[in-house]
Amino acid sequence: MFSNSTQNRLSYWESSVFLPPNQTLVLGSGIVGLNAALHLRELDPQRSIVVIDRGALPSGASTKNAGFACFGSMTELLEDLEHRPASEVWALVERRFRGLQRLREKLGDEAIRYEALGGYEVFRAEEKIIFEACCDQLSAFNQEAKAITGMNETYVLANENLSNMGFSGVENLILNRGEGQINTGWMMKNLLQRTLNAGIQVLNGVEITHLSHDSSGVYLQTSEGWNLQFADAIVATNGFARRLLPDLPVTPARNQVLVTEPIANLPIKGCFHYDRGYFYFRDIDGRILLGGGRNLDPQAEQTDEFGHTELISNSLLSLLETVILPGQKVQIAQWWSGILGLGAEKSPIIRKLGPRLAVAVRMGGMGVAIGTLVGEEAAELLWE
Ligand SMILES: Cc1cc2nc3c(=O)[nH]c(=O)nc-3n(C[C@H](O)[C@H](O)[C@H](O)COP(=O)(O)OP(=O)(O)OC[C@H]3O[C@@H](n4cnc5c(N)ncnc54)[C@H](O)[C@@H]3O)c2cc1C
Repeated sequence: MFSNSTQNRLSYWESSVFLPPNQTLVLGSGIVGLNAALHLRELDPQRSIVVIDRGALPSGASTKNAGFACFGSMTELLEDLEHRPASEVWALVERRFRGLQRLREKLGDEAIRYEALGGYEVFRAEEKIIFEACCDQLSAFNQEAKAITGMNETYVLANENLSNMGFSGVENLILNRGEGQINTGWMMKNLLQRTLNAGIQVLNGVEITHLSHDSSGVYLQTSEGWNLQFADAIVATNGFARRLLPDLPVTPARNQVLVTEPIANLPIKGCFHYDRGYFYFRDIDGRILLGGGRNLDPQAEQTDEFGHTELISNSLLSLLETVILPGQKVQIAQWWSGILGLGAEKSPIIRKLGPRLAVAVRMGGMGVAIGTLVGEEAAELLWE
């Protein structure tokens, strides 16, 4: 009856104390999962809650992103307005803005190293038509945005800043004065500490390979071969959602990123969107962080596997050397990648899939902005 097995089976102590079947599970320790867990704790201080993640650190987007505290650049919104009703587009902008306010309130600007340096959109000569379309809409956009940001002029032309920045081939700049930037590492470290301080158990290195649910509970299998049962659960696995729930309309998208070594007297401060937002860069600790370019190879980048490709790495390097820091010899300190969760619609999926299971996925590449609210809304939904 005992086969020779090297499997790491759960002990009685592990299954009865760490993983008893009456707990609430949050799957995924990104910004959404941790906010969901913290809000569940607020809703029920007595409840036993566990967060599970496959990585030693969160291994998706929340510790891999660029830290833009952004809510809508003009070209992105103009494109959205072509496909969706204006009320829907501005409602999403409002949600992003409110989400950022909530994140800042919850953790504090100092803890997340928030800097209100603004978000710029960069236009080259070949983008004159779209730049002119933005100029035409400037006052209409400012009117809509005023109800959200409280500023008379959220969007302003900022060409006077161009000469200090040292770019090559950039002709125009539009500044969103309501945007800022954070240190993503500190945001997530503080969020994790909050979660632990709230008495929530966080188990890392547990990969879930199968999930089912019914009216009595949620049942999981792990890559170790453990069978786990929970009273109820929130799945917050964003770009990886379809691995466990294949019917969800979430498409993974990889983003490749680099950060340079420190650059003496770096003149660039703030967040920058380039080429309709497909590329983005910012300053961090006297360095440039630069990422994006998935539009160059959409098929290869529609993946939930981390990694790098020559095509996109080279395009990031070329952008850095020819446009952002022309004529400078810059050393690259690190490369990494992260996985987004996208879909035909930009709004997140916050839905109950059964009496015991809720999902909060598809952050549409804006999870820093909306992740706090999405996590909190999923918690409310699970126990409504
Ligand atoms: C390179 C990059 C730059 C970005 N820049 C910005 C930005 O500047 N501003 C902005 O607002 N947004 C940005 N985003 C998007 C933002 O980071 C995401 O929307 C947000 O982090 C998503 O959070 P999440 O909690 O939903 O998902 P994730 O952070 O992806 O968390 C999901 C977690 O689930 C875990 N998981 C998945 N499957 C399993 C499983 N089977 N078993 C156990 N655990 C599992 C993963 O390990 C992961 O930790 C960027 C994203 C990337 C990749």
